[in-house]
Amino acid sequence: MVDVLYNASKKCGVCEGKVAVTKVRSRLSMLKQDSDFCTYYKEVNPNYYGIFVCPHCGYAAQDIYFEETPIAVPVIQKFLESRKVNVDFSGKRTLEQAIATYKLAIFFGEMASMLPSRLGGLYLKLAWIYREGERREEEMQALEHALQCYEQSFLKEKMPIGNMSELTVEYLCGELLRRTGKIDEALTYLGKVVANPNAKNEKRIYEMAREAWHSAREELKEQA
Ligand SMILES: [Zn+2]
Repeated sequence: MVDVLYNASKKCGVCEGKVAVTKVRSRLSMLKQDSDFCTYYKEVNPNYYGIFVCPHCGYAAQDIYFEETPIAVPVIQKFLESRKVNVDFSGKRTLEQAIATYKLAIFFGEMASMLPSRLGGLYLKLAWIYREGERREEEMQALEHALQCYEQSFLKEKMPIGNMSELTVEYLCGELLRRTGKIDEALTYLGKVVANPNAKNEKRIYEMAREAWHSAREELKEQA
């Protein structure tokens, strides 16, 4: 357990202070993956360490964006200026601490009008942590938020988004609709993915969409 975590030094994108962060080694043994891409590993849940928090100013962001200065930095600085910061998320994190770090990153992300896909990613990972803690109601709320963000990303962002193709985002929206009980809408989204001529080139997503479509059909029958 101990050896999968290591420390690194980063520069805070808001106050430029030096921050000692805890990271997870990239070589982990994958156990399984849920249909919304939540991945389980043998050694540790790397999502617990996906957010860096600055102990100097209190800013928090996803690891890969932590050193980037957000465009809204004056708004964030003004907010933090009057607050006394007392945060320490270094070292091993508990489920509760992991949740707290995502909430902080989402808070700053919303303040800084973060790209909807990035915000969606934060909500999705928060939902997965709630899932691990079997906190279903909170998981569903976070999935709803993630869904709204990804739907927004279709309107506001150019595809692909990071490593997610347009088809993947479409599939994910369909699957999140299904998971949050909006079966009719889920079927529309998933049906579009399955019928998309490009789906042939993305076999895995095509298969996942087909499976989710069938599950949604079954759930619809059960509801009737
Ligand atoms: Zn800082």
